[in-house]
Order: sequence, then structure tokens, then C-alpha cells
Amino acid sequence: MLRFLSTNGKAPAVGLREALLRGQAPDRGLYLPESFPRIDAPELEGFAELAYPEIAFRVLSRFTDGMIAPDELRVICAEAYDYEVPLEPVYDRVHVLRLDQGPTASFKDFAARMMARLIGKLVAEDGRGLTILTATSGDTGSAVASAFHGVPGIRVIVLFPVAEVSDRQRKQMTTLQDNICTVAVDGKFDDCQALVKTAFADPELTHLALSSANSINIGRLLPQSVYYFYAASRMAQPGEPMVFVVPSGNFGNLMGAVIAGRMGLPLRRLVAPVNGNDEFPDFLASGDYRKIEPSRACLSNAMNVGHPSNLARLVALYGGHLDERGTVHRPPDMEALRRDLFSTAVSDERTRETIREAWQAHRLLLEPHGAVGWRGLLDFATVETLDRVPVAVVETAHPAKFPEAIEAVLGFPPEVPPALARLEGRPEHYAELGRDYAGFRAFLRHHVEGSAPRHSQNQFD
Ligand SMILES: *Cc1c(COP(=O)(O)O)cnc(C)c1O
Repeated sequence: MLRFLSTNGKAPAVGLREALLRGQAPDRGLYLPESFPRIDAPELEGFAELAYPEIAFRVLSRFTDGMIAPDELRVICAEAYDYEVPLEPVYDRVHVLRLDQGPTASFKDFAARMMARLIGKLVAEDGRGLTILTATSGDTGSAVASAFHGVPGIRVIVLFPVAEVSDRQRKQMTTLQDNICTVAVDGKFDDCQALVKTAFADPELTHLALSSANSINIGRLLPQSVYYFYAASRMAQPGEPMVFVVPSGNFGNLMGAVIAGRMGLPLRRLVAPVNGNDEFPDFLASGDYRKIEPSRACLSNAMNVGHPSNLARLVALYGGHLDERGTVHRPPDMEALRRDLFSTAVSDERTRETIREAWQAHRLLLEPHGAVGWRGLLDFATVETLDRVPVAVVETAHPAKFPEAIEAVLGFPPEVPPALARLEGRPEHYAELGRDYAGFRAFLRHHVEGSAPRHSQNQFD
């Protein structure tokens, strides 16, 4: 059985089941597989003939061996990935990989839908229930709520800042009901996160056995490696290395590409553009890591991360040690990092310019996160010739999730896909709370106590 080790090196190795249920390792490090299973060249070549869910099965079964029967995993992959994964040709061999066709129209659906099914299965085997408590600035909460909606034995409580999520993001959470409970907090995202963290640490709530949902769970990363295999199978010749451009915030999406590379997918370079939160390109250039605190508010708001938790994993894969507070205890092999990765910071001004230019030059419609990606490719092309190299730029959300930003630049609103249009007119249900912890605790007790399923410690976001 594949074992998972903590990046901090002070926690026992665990199997996938425990890594999924724990989220963070007990030494506050993040789990990584001890070694990466390899997919050999002949099998990779065969991916060209396979549909997305089957590629997902081939990749994920390497990790779930011993935890879930192959037939069962195959069914889960078919159910989780029942939507399109478009590769839009732009020019030469450059494509945009649109990861926005899931039910909440962001790439977070890919991971959330797989994790919900895997955790749902573990909970069903345990015969105990689980309450997932999560704070969101928008996309994670809606993807998690949608993915866990109707999963037996699991209740989800999502806190969101009342004035900081868009109408559409809010409706994606508040129209679900059943096992999904949403709470509008009169405060900022940081207030929501503080309430959740305080609840987890509250000795008077340990009997509720709450579990969290965050981006550090290894279960979030593994499904995010699949679409890189898929894109390469459609775009590259057998064995031909690709460039992927991944607009990054917490670097979970990028880690999916790194994992695919370690499993045998030929990569020429990974490009990880960021917004004004430029700690990573700074680190690549200088070798000194300086987190940005507080993070800077940018147009591509899902990437407003000043200390990306997944950097601990990236640094570990290159032989270094970065802890959860941002201290480098052992530097990674910077030369190898620079060889494999390119990064660049894209300001809001350049993001808007890119939305305009991509539309004018190619009739390519991008939202702010995808525009950071596209500009990242253009920046990369100034340092490296990309003649006939297959390139996929990842578009992480649907333009209709950011209608104001697009209309302000292009003068027209993006078309709304059916998944988002369905939300209009549906009744919304949510509780309203202030920022004070006492009020939140009373709310939690009222909602969870007595009726809530119980479970041991667990993390998910
Ligand atoms: C979460 C998110 C990102 C950032 O992804 P990371 O894995 O955190 O780097 C980018 N774009 C959108 C639309 C997102 O929701």
C-alpha cells in the first residue's frame, strides 16, 4: 500500500484513507506520497483513445489501491466527471483548457466531486456521520457544498462573508438546502475563517467532532492531476513534452501538474503566473521566501493568497523544508525549480489589458484568473521560444462568474451557462450571524448537537 509522509517529517506515515480523513498531518505538515506511481509510455499513448472518466480511473486507481475496489472507483469517476472538458484551440498549438463546465463553473469541482464521493464512502463504511465546517471566499464553498449535496451521513456548514461574495456565488450555496447549511457572516473572509478555526480548537465543541474543508487535503490534489494527462493525450504526440500554464493562488492546481509530471507525463516547463501576490516569483528569483501578510486584494480574487500552503509540498519535492509558518529550514534545489518552473506576477491593470487583447486578437473570452494565465504565457514567450510546442493555458472559472469585470472591459456581459442560469429565481436559505464567537457557538450547538452525525477529526477544503 502506498504510504503518505508529512512535509514536516515529524508525523507517522499513513495510508490514503487516513490522509484523506486527517487533511493536515499531526505535525502541521502536509501529506505527500512517499513515492509516485509511474504510468509508462505505452499506457500514456493509449490515453488518446480514452474518455475523461476512464483516464481519471487509470490515474487515481494508482493511489486508491487497497482503499476502494477498482469497479467502485470506475463508477465514482463516471459519476463525478459527467461534464465536458473543452480544449479550445487559439493559435498554432496553443489551447485553452476550460475547467469550468462543472456544476459550480470552477475547476474546484474536479477535486470536490471526487473527494465528496471518496469521503462519503469512508463515512458509510464507518457507520458514523460527519459534519464539515468550512469558510469560503466564494469558489471553494460552492464547489464543496454542491459536491456533498445529498451525500448520506454528511452535513456541510459553509460560512461566507455577506458582502464579499457575488450574487451568483452566494446562490450556488444557498439554494441547495437538505444537508447543506449556509451562514452569512457580517464580516470579511478572515472573520469567517477565524470563527471556523476557533470552533475547531474549542474544547467545549470536541464532542461535535467537526471536520474542515480546505485546500491542503491530498485528496484535493490527486484529482487535479488528471486533466493534465487528458489535455496531453489530446494535444501532444506520444512522448512529446508540453507546457502547461496554471494561474495560481494556493498552488493546488499547479501541484496537480507537478504530480502528473512525477507520474511520467512529459513536461517541458510549468508556468505558474500569480496576481499582485507575488511571493512565489520573488522566491524563484531571489531564493528568499517572504510571505505577504495580509494578502493583497486583486481582481482575480480566488488567487489572493500571500502564503500558499502548497509551497510546502513543492519545496519538499525539490529536497527542501518549508514549514506552515513560512520558515525555510532547508532550501530546495533552486536550480532545478527554476529549470522546471517559470513564474511571473500580473497586476490588475495587465489583467484587464489581457482580457481586452485576448478578445480582440483571438476572440478568446477570459475571466480575470484565466487572463492572469494568458498573460503568464505571453511573459514566458519573451524568455523562451515556443515554436510549435504544445501549450495548454488553464482557464479556472467560467467568465459568467465574473460578469462585472468582463463587461467593464469588453462592454458586454458573458453568456450564462445553464448550470448558473438555473440558480436564478430559486429560493435562498441562509442564516445570518455576526462576527462574535459566542453567537456562532450557540448556532453550531443548536444545529449540530443531537441531530449531527459524529466522526473523528478530519479536514477538507
Ligand atoms: C481557487 C482558484 C484558483 C487558484 O487555484 P490554486 O489551486 O489555489 O492555485 C484560481 N482560479 C479560480 C477561479 C479559483 O477558484
